[in-house]
Amino acid sequence: MSKFRLPLREDLIGQDPYGAPQDRVVARLNVNENPFAPSQELRQALAAAVMESSAEINRYPDRDAEQLRGALSNYIVREAGITVAWEQIWVANGSNEVMSHVMSAFGGPGRVALTFAPTYSMYPDYARDSFTNLITIERTADFTIDVGGACEAIVANRPSLVLVASPNNPTGTETPLDALRALAECAEHNNALLVVDEAYAEFRRDKESTAIRLLHQFPNIIVTRTMSKAFGFAGARVGYCLASSPAIINALMLVRLPYHLSAITQAVAIAALSMTGELANQVEILRSERDALVQDLLDLNIQVVPSDANFILFGQFPSRHDVWQALLDRGVLIRETGPEGWLRVSIGTPEENKLFIESMRNIMNLNPIL
Ligand SMILES: *Cc1c(COP(=O)(O)O)cnc(C)c1O
Repeated sequence: MSKFRLPLREDLIGQDPYGAPQDRVVARLNVNENPFAPSQELRQALAAAVMESSAEINRYPDRDAEQLRGALSNYIVREAGITVAWEQIWVANGSNEVMSHVMSAFGGPGRVALTFAPTYSMYPDYARDSFTNLITIERTADFTIDVGGACEAIVANRPSLVLVASPNNPTGTETPLDALRALAECAEHNNALLVVDEAYAEFRRDKESTAIRLLHQFPNIIVTRTMSKAFGFAGARVGYCLASSPAIINALMLVRLPYHLSAITQAVAIAALSMTGELANQVEILRSERDALVQDLLDLNIQVVPSDANFILFGQFPSRHDVWQALLDRGVLIRETGPEGWLRVSIGTPEENKLFIESMRNIMNLNPIL
């Protein structure tokens, strides 16, 4: 018998990898994807892009993805009405990779990142992997951020990074622009970057409130976005960020792996960005489905957190696991996440949402004390 013991890092022993279930049930409402499959026309454009870019697949891709960053700059003008130069944009395999670049470049041993819980479950992992000390401030009872308290925490803890997901996952809560402005100012005075994770930006009710507006007013802003959610491109793995200055982007380039973004990924992303017509319609459907579903849950006497995203946090159940399981038994997979007693459901197609709400009605009728 070999005495070999895996020399795993001490801090990784006993940890579990990220893993939401990927079960093939009728309604998969657990990871906030866009539920609409791409059109035939879009798929043909993607196939053509793969065909073309594969002509040089023997070569390494453009390390700096300049053309794609240009296409993202154009998209932001169309989506948010704000001009951001391509030199202020960075792109990687999902905004998760962008965020890991941010943590590697600006976090690190002896450094502090500050965030506001409950929030995205991956932040502790990015912090662990970059040896950054993550300090978590609790949100208020309605899941908003107490800006005064946040600024005191910034002064006391001297973070290099302040992370705010807005709209927040898993609560759906948006942080208003005034609050972000106050946080940006406090962070600037304390030499910290304010990172606003806008994975769900396109779903917000007030479209004007994006932190992209702050890029030109403050030197210390990074806004991360993704093509995985509203854009319906989760399988392609494309995320990006917009920053106050090219200097921030140059810092991220120091820590990226060589040729991190494949030529195929760059090509299909550019193709998809040139065909955003069908998207706007889907996002509108999802937004109005969300608002209708909020009302349906309220009608069942269930508490709902106001949502600016494509999911809803609802509760509070004495045994949320029983509700989660009862839904799964009816072919609906949602997410058991967030504070104790709450559950999160992603907005699906109208048919999926109907199955979800009818199942909930049925479950509550059968067992009102759940
Ligand atoms: C889904 C999500 C992301 C992005 O994921 P990618 O697919 O890696 O772009 C980022 N932040 C939050 C809060 C999310 O919920």
